[in-house]
Amino acid sequence: MTYLVTDNCIKCKNMDCVEVCPVDCFYEGENFLVINPDECIDCGVCEPECGPGAILADSALGAEAEKWHNINMKYSLIWPVITEKGEAPADADEWDGVPNKYDSGLMSELPGKGT
Ligand code: SF4
Ligand code: SF4
Repeated sequence: MTYLVTDNCIKCKNMDCVEVCPVDCFYEGENFLVINPDECIDCGVCEPECGPGAILADSALGAEAEKWHNINMKYSLIWPVITEKGEAPADADEWDGVPNKYDSGLMSELPGKGT
């Protein structure tokens, strides 16, 4: 089992989750974060920190689990680690709850700055 970052983080990247992770397994893209599934120790402490509700256990994702596992794994291997909360996007609240952001092509593949 692992926890995964899912669709609603896209463009809502407020980074409230990163500082609680005991193993520093969040990785930063330009407008999205991911968790490295192999590094996550399944402690679950990040889940309640995520106001947009984008962090979920893979076991809670049903048919979507494989898709988000692959996305988290892929980008965690190429984006920089992030351990300190940065500045949230100014329009983060406007994107909270917008459905199907990944499938609409709204996730940037560019890396973030990391910390
Ligand atoms: S708290 Fe949730 S929405 Fe915010 S950056 Fe972390 S995963 Fe994304
Ligand atoms: S479940 Fe624990 S180890 Fe996994 S990403 Fe969240 S805080 Fe880090």
